[in-house]
Amino acid sequence: MQKKLAELKNRLMEINDLQMAASLLNWDQSTYMPPGGAVARGRQMATLGRLAHEKFTSLEVGNLLDALRPYADTLPYDHDDAALLRRTQTDFDQATKIPAELLSELLAHNAAAYQAWTVARPENNFKAVEPLLQKTVELSRRVADCFPGYDHIADPLIDFSDEGMKAESIRALFAELRQAMVPLVKAITDQSVADDSCLKQTFPEDDQLAFGMKIVKQYGYDLARGRQDKTHHPFMTKFSLGDVRITTRVKENDLSEALFSTLHEAGHAMYEQGIRLDFEGTPLGVGTSSGVHESQSRLWENIVGRSRGFWQHYYPQLQAVFSSQLGQVDLDTFYRAINKVQPSLIRTDADEVTYNLHVMIRFDLELQLLEGTLAVKDLPEAWHGRYQSDLGLRAPDDRDGALQDVHWFMGMVGGAFQGYTLGNIMSGLFYDAALKAHQEIPDEIAQGQFGLLHGWLKENVYQHGRKYTANELVEKISGGPLTIAPYIAYLQNKFGELYNL
Ligand code: ZN
Repeated sequence: MQKKLAELKNRLMEINDLQMAASLLNWDQSTYMPPGGAVARGRQMATLGRLAHEKFTSLEVGNLLDALRPYADTLPYDHDDAALLRRTQTDFDQATKIPAELLSELLAHNAAAYQAWTVARPENNFKAVEPLLQKTVELSRRVADCFPGYDHIADPLIDFSDEGMKAESIRALFAELRQAMVPLVKAITDQSVADDSCLKQTFPEDDQLAFGMKIVKQYGYDLARGRQDKTHHPFMTKFSLGDVRITTRVKENDLSEALFSTLHEAGHAMYEQGIRLDFEGTPLGVGTSSGVHESQSRLWENIVGRSRGFWQHYYPQLQAVFSSQLGQVDLDTFYRAINKVQPSLIRTDADEVTYNLHVMIRFDLELQLLEGTLAVKDLPEAWHGRYQSDLGLRAPDDRDGALQDVHWFMGMVGGAFQGYTLGNIMSGLFYDAALKAHQEIPDEIAQGQFGLLHGWLKENVYQHGRKYTANELVEKISGGPLTIAPYIAYLQNKFGELYNL
């Protein structure tokens, strides 16, 4: 058995090498590649992806998994080998149960839908993509049907990014969250809107980048195993557990853009850097779900990086760097500016409080499209209706309505959005658990020290990689299922104080 397990691990490492090489090509494409490289680069990444897929779905891997099943059955659930075989089997099923023709139909369709969306959105022409989106919904249903036995048709699609989560439990969690958020947003916006003009002056790029990097180094992002480069749409990527990179973009007329994207991506990166090294190259050597990943980025970006204690320490340093811009702006004004709450039409620009409302709208619409309770042709009006009821706003057109996000036009309908809000909910739950273990964490943060918090996260979240699903991790940490209570309490405390609610 040990020989077979070693053989499986060797194969998985080889497959991982191909995937990581493709990631490096992708990072280069998004950072330094000259435009002339685009066509060949697309082909090269597709080649590596195809080779990895072929190797993974091979008869050999299938036979090894079959042969190792009796061994897995003898192990305790918590055993590393049991987890490795369980996760590998999940990935193998996902890679093999979708027929090759359906997969290639989906990929070809995605390319066409994305192309059409890039034209239709600036033209505000939903009609042009309506039949394509209709087909996306149909293909998404067919993919879901490759995994029979689900409770809700979205479950198999949610499983791709948030393994083990179910549409019904997420819907219940989100309904509860929405009930708490809508009045909170209303109470805040009934007051005068915070003034964030201090952030909209001119801030030289190099100084912005240096300041952000100084903070994330102090957070614990290891630059011997990481680096930051500039890109159009910030992301985190990795090529091994020893090389986990972040990217950012700078706006010289908006101080918050690069700074908070750096803190966000560093949160993702520290998670990956903290995974046990012996998981390298296996399906366990990666963050466990999109929700847990987002919990880490949001925790370092918002709960830490937008807290008053944090800026009590760092604001004098920021003022020293940007003395002509911020020298006369007091801490309170700055703190209010970076925590300005204002309902808006665009998800990616939304503040900490209203952000979840954007996500929940999309999640509900996805489920309705998949269920067939909402027709694609009615999506634009359904979108506007929900923005009106949840955020009190109506987009003037579909450009900032149903055409806003790329997700439905480059992949499936279903499973694309819930991770963002699950991440916020989990960030509150994990931080709460860390505070219960170490009450001194806020005092440390107010002194620019993060060792206790980072250490707790490494111990309880990071090191496990994908050994536990999100639900298992939450259960292990909090002793119960995922609940919104700590996250809501966090928001109500913070914004209650800020807005005298
Ligand atoms: Zn993120």
